Amino acid sequence: MIGVLLDAQRTGINRGTSGNASYRSGDGFIITPSALPYETMGPEDLVTIDADGVSSGEYRPSSEWLFHQRIYQHRADVDAIVHLHSPAATALSTLRLDIPSFHYMVAVAGGIDIRCSDYATFGTEDLADAAILALANRRACLLANHGLIACASSVRAAYNLAIEVESLANQYLLARTAGHPELLTEAEMHDVLDRFGDYQPDR
Ligand code: 13P
Ligand code: ZN
Repeated sequence: MIGVLLDAQRTGINRGTSGNASYRSGDGFIITPSALPYETMGPEDLVTIDADGVSSGEYRPSSEWLFHQRIYQHRADVDAIVHLHSPAATALSTLRLDIPSFHYMVAVAGGIDIRCSDYATFGTEDLADAAILALANRRACLLANHGLIACASSVRAAYNLAIEVESLANQYLLARTAGHPELLTEAEMHDVLDRFGDYQPDR
């Protein structure tokens, strides 16, 4: 988990101590600590949150532990979550734009678009509510004026999905600067989703 966040920093997809990650463990989950530099973070610094939301560990859990908890409670299909402030996804989130069906790979998040949530202050129940809504039938979303969330069956797979969403956000922003991208129809996207049923990895 720490390796993924270090990689995100090295590649520039995330900077500083922004972002966090977690994976399901028993009735609860294990999450990165709040505001601790990833370079100095070790496995012993990770924080455990139990089914009642009680944390144990030397450090405070990520300030976003509430949305991680809410996602695990609502989504039996999710075992790991990566949250990043990646540049293109964050830029798009400030425009409060969903990523529409401008490219077939949008289906990688599980639907015909990738939604942008409503805005809510970081670390709040309201943000957890907004995230759950934006993630309905999806594995990823943008968080308004904030960043992105990617969910999968492992931290590595969630990170790979986050990279894909960031790449799509980048391509969509680029296309919008040049004009009005032509969108795939719902039928075309459902065709892609059907094919992804056989092909699309939870990488
Ligand atoms: P934490 O360091 O508390 O996880 O905060 C980073 C972040 O991305 C808040 O939204
Ligand atoms: Zn954040």
